[in-house]
Amino acid sequence: MRENWNDRFAETPDVLKSAGLQQTVVPVLDMEIGGSEFITMAGPCSVETEFQLMATANHVRRAGARILRGGAFKPRSSPYAFQGHGLDGLKMLARAREESGLAIVTEVMSEEDVPMVAEYADILQIGTRNMENYALLEAAALSGRPVLLKRGMVATIADLLRSAQLILDFGNPNVILCERGIRTFETATRNTFDVAAIALLKQISHLPVIADPSHAAGHRDLVPALARIAVAAGADGLLVEVHPNPDKAWSDGDQSLDFAGFDEMMADLDPWLALRERSLHRRERGLPRREAARSMEAVG
Ligand code: PEP
Ligand code: MN
Repeated sequence: MRENWNDRFAETPDVLKSAGLQQTVVPVLDMEIGGSEFITMAGPCSVETEFQLMATANHVRRAGARILRGGAFKPRSSPYAFQGHGLDGLKMLARAREESGLAIVTEVMSEEDVPMVAEYADILQIGTRNMENYALLEAAALSGRPVLLKRGMVATIADLLRSAQLILDFGNPNVILCERGIRTFETATRNTFDVAAIALLKQISHLPVIADPSHAAGHRDLVPALARIAVAAGADGLLVEVHPNPDKAWSDGDQSLDFAGFDEMMADLDPWLALRERSLHRRERGLPRREAARSMEAVG
């Protein structure tokens, strides 16, 4: 890593790569986030019904996802919009976990809810609106569960790293960073996907980086392209919204893929994942960069 990045992010030394720690691998069930396997987390924005969740879990598992996402506690723009099923939603997630074998990632919105959510979830999601809710970060850290920390929609990379550092300070090493798009002057997309942030985070930090193309795009037809870009930028995995009938979704339907759309996205990712694998092997073997250039030709 170049010295200037170290200086620039000197406030958060523990999230930066060091001679002794180049990559954190977060263990979840039988998988490792940040390891050689690219991990796809997929599922509905909100847990709605038993049928919706089970159908989605079974489908995304067959298509290659390893983790089921779904909100039981939903941060909504309007207090009158659906706020999530709470404990009942967590119980549905637990049943889906049992039936599908998928791990569960779900959002926790307040520190009082952390013990309950941690009982059901394999990974606690901290949403964009809570990235700087330090009381919540502390409680999530102390739960002992891995924490998926979403970048605040107006947070700089330094801000994101500061929140990650805080979780490490509370003794929890299992932090997963998530780029989900930031607010800019552009309004055609819901947020602006900061692909450079993925590349930079992978360069400077040992923490795994997950990309959320759904909340970045806001439109389902853009999600597959952003997913491919995320792989190319070096992400360790994806967080993607999938719904059996997106037009009827209780939240975020516009950006949710249907089952066929998810299958297509996963199939389109294959050549990019093959490239990723090659560059991982290259790095392990310390081969010169020319080998990588030759691999690129395979994509066509
Ligand atoms: C979500 O994952 O459904 C969500 C609300 O994400 P964000 O916090 O990034 O808006
Ligand atoms: Mn959502």
